[in-house]
Amino acid sequence: MRYIVGIDIGGTNIVAGTVAEDGSELLGLVSQPTIAEQGADAVMQRIVKLARASMAQARGKEIAGVGIGSPGPLNTKTGIVLLTPNLGWTNFPLRDRLGQALGLPATLDNDANCAIFGEWWRGAARGSDYVVGFTIGTGIGGGIVLAGKIYRGVSDVAGEIGHMSIDSNGRRCKCGNDGCLEAYASGPAIAARAVEGIQTGADTSLPRYVKDDLSKITAQIVYEAAHDGDEYALEVVHDTAKFLGTGVANIVNIFNPEVVVICGGVTLAGEKLFAPLRGEVKRRAFKPAVDACRIVPGELTGTAGVYGAAAVFVQRTWGTV
Ligand SMILES: [Zn+2]
Repeated sequence: MRYIVGIDIGGTNIVAGTVAEDGSELLGLVSQPTIAEQGADAVMQRIVKLARASMAQARGKEIAGVGIGSPGPLNTKTGIVLLTPNLGWTNFPLRDRLGQALGLPATLDNDANCAIFGEWWRGAARGSDYVVGFTIGTGIGGGIVLAGKIYRGVSDVAGEIGHMSIDSNGRRCKCGNDGCLEAYASGPAIAARAVEGIQTGADTSLPRYVKDDLSKITAQIVYEAAHDGDEYALEVVHDTAKFLGTGVANIVNIFNPEVVVICGGVTLAGEKLFAPLRGEVKRRAFKPAVDACRIVPGELTGTAGVYGAAAVFVQRTWGTV
């Protein structure tokens, strides 16, 4: 059995693990904060160190290569990250730099593509030929896996489902567009909507969770207050479900998927989010598509990107996963 180091580079954390080529085993799972403000080279060195730490814990195994998942946009053929404002990379040859540093062949793909590919390979969407997934955190990423292959489009942009417009005159998104799903339902967007309501007089216990420092309100705190029975927090969660449900309904009508998998911190809201989300999709999308589709939380919490990055290497190098 050969093993692949899977690396998931996020804006907050870098995670690495050594994965068996059939996905049956994950060894040496290690993680460190990204600390992007230290600059591109420091981040690069941290990635190399983490990969080595993971391989050291998998001592004795045959390591065949390294699969990298990185924020994009990027070029999967040249292995170059075109632009990541959060990490300070511009036209950065990440795949070759990392491959050379580790002395291993390497592949590069988008981080969200990797996460959803991981969920298809070993997680909630296992065995399905029609999968679309959302990764919801600081931003909203997505991945489309059709017949066991990531659908990347002609220039590796496909799957940016966080940037579908759900309101053509809506909230400004970091990408420059107006009304993107991400501007409503990412973690920071959920917190921002909650704070806006408080500032316009909403009756809620939320400020007590942060000692009246509204800048400390996060999506997680909103879910916590909703679980504790705060009506306003519950309303924010329901609005989130409505926005996400609108996005999922678009996807369901366009792709007619068997599984829509939703990954990330937002799944902590549990059925308080998923029940109204499914209701919204049912209300909006075509019935035969809704009836055929499962909308489920991801199963590989914290490791989907590592599994997926390794699976991309396996598929690109040996043809099948
Ligand atoms: Zn956008």
